[in-house]
Amino acid sequence: MYTKSFNYHRPGSLAEAATLFKRSGDARYLAGGQTLIPTMKQRLAAPADVIDLGGLADLAFIRVAGGMLTIGAGTRHADVSTSPEVQRAIPALAQLASMIGDPAVRHRGTIGGSVANNDPGADYPAAVLGLGAMVKTTEREIAADDFFTGMFSTALNDGEIVTEIAFPVPEKAGYAKFPNPASRYATVGVFVAKTKSGVRAAVTGAGPCVFRVPEMEAALARNFSAGAISGIRVPADGLNSDIHASAEYRAHLIGVMAKRAIAAA
Ligand SMILES: Cc1cc2nc3c(=O)[nH]c(=O)nc-3n(C[C@H](O)[C@H](O)[C@H](O)COP(=O)(O)OP(=O)(O)OC[C@H]3O[C@@H](n4cnc5c(N)ncnc54)[C@H](O)[C@@H]3O)c2cc1C
Repeated sequence: MYTKSFNYHRPGSLAEAATLFKRSGDARYLAGGQTLIPTMKQRLAAPADVIDLGGLADLAFIRVAGGMLTIGAGTRHADVSTSPEVQRAIPALAQLASMIGDPAVRHRGTIGGSVANNDPGADYPAAVLGLGAMVKTTEREIAADDFFTGMFSTALNDGEIVTEIAFPVPEKAGYAKFPNPASRYATVGVFVAKTKSGVRAAVTGAGPCVFRVPEMEAALARNFSAGAISGIRVPADGLNSDIHASAEYRAHLIGVMAKRAIAAA
């Protein structure tokens, strides 16, 4: 049940969407609706205006050029997972998308909605940070290292729309997650990548927000193998602890998932 009625808008352009947002003062963008609609039904959000980005065909595309894989914000998880371009350029990203939720979620949810929402257990943030991707918006380009700022929080300004995400094509990359058995969100997920600019290892699910593990990155830069990170323990301090897993268990899973991700790469 929704708490109150709201105005539904279906703009024909990004400019119109941004104008509607500014005019409202109490608006939310709608992409796949896989997070926003349940949140509204649970009465955790009650915007006066819902601005549906789903009609903007320009936001759904997959392009490979100049060593970059660029994915439009409106691209559905199912399209990323089955795209031959993604499977060729960054197979780990196609595999990550195939592990999100269930078929219904994958056919509605979008990559832009996922990164803008920045759920602590979401999968895409690990790939965006793990590959050092660039998030492009209606206002600017934001490096992955500056984009994810905290639990459900990002560097996006009010009304700013994610338009595309540009991933550098890595030499190798892998992703492994320990999924929540009901939702499939990551209890812990680790994305590792070796790119021209170095090695990165990003962890989702374990903490309030996706984060990198510099010690693992340094060890993998010397020797990109599961054995290289055997002695590395991420401390449990500050990690999530809930009915699904304690902070200590999540800390343990980071090492296990990292080794699996390296093996997958
Ligand atoms: C049962 C279930 C299981 C799930 N399992 C997983 C899982 O295993 N892994 C995982 O990663 N996710 C999972 N999800 C979440 C799913 O991936 C959603 O698709 C995602 O969180 C939000 O994407 P969306 O397109 O549905 O966005 P919406 O719900 O439409 O929007 C989410 C938020 O992002 C904002 N927003 C949307 N698009 C943009 C944009 N382009 N620019 C700026 N702001 C924008 C909206 O205003 C809203 O605040 C699950 C969801 C459900 C319901």
